[in-house]
Amino acid sequence: MISRIPVQDKVVFITIDDGWEKDADFVRLIRDERIPVTLFLENLAVKKNYGYFRELQQAGALIEDHTMTHPYMPRLSYKRQKQEICDAAGIYTTQYGARPTLFRAPYGSTDHDTLRAARDCGMKAIFFWREVVSNGKIAYQVPGRLHPGDIMLVHFNPNMTADFKKMLRTIHKQGFRPAAVRDHLPAEFFQ
Ligand SMILES: [Zn+2]
Repeated sequence: MISRIPVQDKVVFITIDDGWEKDADFVRLIRDERIPVTLFLENLAVKKNYGYFRELQQAGALIEDHTMTHPYMPRLSYKRQKQEICDAAGIYTTQYGARPTLFRAPYGSTDHDTLRAARDCGMKAIFFWREVVSNGKIAYQVPGRLHPGDIMLVHFNPNMTADFKKMLRTIHKQGFRPAAVRDHLPAEFFQ
């Protein structure tokens, strides 16, 4: 379970959850500015338009696992939790040509069975976060400012592109830049 990745440089890791809103401008932003992002997709939110996230993937985004239906996992049996994680991983493997190996639990809520189910579905790490970003505004878990290696949580939302640019300005103002998780986690995570 990680909420930051140990790094030397002033970099942060941007993760984007769910996938209900599909803004074409946002794809252009990610592609043109080459911004590394990790997407934790909920199948229910993305299944009407897998293609949108394929465009983001082609722009460099990493597609990862955020369950089929976004349940509160501790309420479910091990078997149901495993279905939620493994079924989404299977669908994304078919849709995106790479099997997810990172998992984020809905609401960040896990119990012992969640950890076991994630591992049994081939997940190498469970992602939590340090900062939540809403409407482009960063809520700091450790007050004041960003720290090297922080994982930031954004949700796909209706004002995605403008909010995202606002967040990027704040990141840059603090002397940080977004980095790709793939460059800072063990290579075997992505094989
Ligand atoms: Zn979510």
